[in-house]
Amino acid sequence: MNIDAHRWLMTAVNTPLQRAAFEAAPGPGEVTVAVAGCGVCHTDLGYFYDGVRTNHALPLALGHEVSGRVVACGAGAEHWAGKAVIVPAVLPCGTCDLCQRGLGTICRQQKMPGNDIQGGFASHIVVPGRGLCEVDEARLVRAGLTLAEVSIVADALTTPYQAVRRAGVTPGSLAIVVGAGGVGGYCVQVARAFGATVVAIDIDDAKLAAVAQHGAALTLNSRTLDAKAIKAAVVAFAKQSGLRSTEWFIFECSGSAPGQLTAYGLLVHGATLSVVGFTMDKVEVRLSNLMAFDARAIGNWGCPPEAYPAALGLVLDGKVQIRPFVETHPLDDINRVFAAVHRHEIKKRAVMVPA
Ligand SMILES: [Zn+2]
Ligand SMILES: [Zn+2]
Repeated sequence: MNIDAHRWLMTAVNTPLQRAAFEAAPGPGEVTVAVAGCGVCHTDLGYFYDGVRTNHALPLALGHEVSGRVVACGAGAEHWAGKAVIVPAVLPCGTCDLCQRGLGTICRQQKMPGNDIQGGFASHIVVPGRGLCEVDEARLVRAGLTLAEVSIVADALTTPYQAVRRAGVTPGSLAIVVGAGGVGGYCVQVARAFGATVVAIDIDDAKLAAVAQHGAALTLNSRTLDAKAIKAAVVAFAKQSGLRSTEWFIFECSGSAPGQLTAYGLLVHGATLSVVGFTMDKVEVRLSNLMAFDARAIGNWGCPPEAYPAALGLVLDGKVQIRPFVETHPLDDINRVFAAVHRHEIKKRAVMVPA
């Protein structure tokens, strides 16, 4: 079988990606997916511009937010033939002791496309034929969405989904999302879908206006308010909304030092602080506030494949809207799109679509 495949390789930090042909043949247990779309994530830019190391040596195709159709199957993976799928951003091995105990997100043999294996800024990607999330195409059509658009489920949606699920948000909770961009915008919607009343904080009024239409009951601009004023505003909002002044769920999605300080400053008794965003920058905090508030802080790496169908279900049921937050671009424009996302000229999630 001959597949005319190509991918865009990162060869060095901040050096234009190079298009290269490759053999897209699946090995035993693997499948080849014809990429429908691959979202551009903050993490990709971290590798490309900031020199964050990938586990796989360069040259490497980045991209871990992939949807597509299975076009070739290795031995033992034949049941995926022809299926529309979302490739989870983190694919646990499924067989090690950690995986056996349901701890797939910390599996040491896990494969992340565009980090451990060749990624999705490509016409095709070869991935393990395990843990893929099948997309019901009839439901997709009824939801008015394309397979390319739901690529963002692979990370931008499932990462906050897992954070909200793991934190234990329930109806009547107060959730605060710091950073209302790509991931944060979905965090707002997912927390709302779990029954929380949601406060969104960002420095960008346009992003705040967007999430105000999609799940945020209160928006606050942290460029114009200091930490004290923000906390006072949330306290007042909780009181007037009949919500608890304790046990807030705080989701740091900005992946920035100022955002992390804002999030940490919102700790109250019994609070849960979930670190969803990533930055190389450091912050100085009084860690003992966790002790004094009997609070907890938890990190979050990816989302287990078994949780993907429920996360995708929120999208297909219309409980989480993705279309207003996604824009597609031809894959061949990837160098231009990376630069534009890096300069914050593209506000929506950019999804690269092969020609
Ligand atoms: Zn990502
Ligand atoms: Zn494992």
